[in-house]
Amino acid sequence: MAEGNWHAADIDRVIVGEDQIRDKVDELAKQVAADYATADSVLLVGVLKGAVMFMADFARALGRHGPPVEMEFMAVSSYGQGTTSSGVVRILKDLDSDIAGRHVIVVEDIVDSGLTLSWLMKYLQSRRAASVEVVALLRKPDAVKVTVPVKYVGFDIPNEFVVGYGLDYSERYREVPYVGVLRKSVYAQS
Ligand code: 5GP
Repeated sequence: MAEGNWHAADIDRVIVGEDQIRDKVDELAKQVAADYATADSVLLVGVLKGAVMFMADFARALGRHGPPVEMEFMAVSSYGQGTTSSGVVRILKDLDSDIAGRHVIVVEDIVDSGLTLSWLMKYLQSRRAASVEVVALLRKPDAVKVTVPVKYVGFDIPNEFVVGYGLDYSERYREVPYVGVLRKSVYAQS
């Protein structure tokens, strides 16, 4: 099964296609570039591993439109092997540099319960960043209940478990170039 498009059989339907992602990433970068036009630089903080694809594309898009960019990565615990939020946030990888006085933009793959993000915002503010905003490619309906100010949102999606473009199911499907819903039979196998 070494065929290039093996994942198509596991995906029930595409929620956000490749072209849509590309256009939206560019649109978000233009908005951010306009808002930070007078900033010396922005510090993008990507949340591993899910935000890796979005981070890479968003940073390059900002490179075309915006102020100079620096990148940091953090890893925090979230879903583990399952598909429901544990609510437990633990730092697995911390920032490498001091963010005091920096304009920070957290780059998130998806906001669901918002638990991860609200914790992360407080953490970054406690490290005395000059400003902290969030750009999230995807947002699920439950996120609106939480008071996390996500300034830049790519797509509002239905309340279903999605994979692709960095998002995994048991570490698989991150490389799928679009965002889609897995077939139920895939869960049944594991
Ligand atoms: P929250 O704390 O907002 O509930 O969840 C944040 C994290 O949970 C995301 O960064 C992501 O890693 C994971 N997550 C939430 N919804 C999904 C989903 O539909 N699919 C995948 N693969 N991960 C999700």
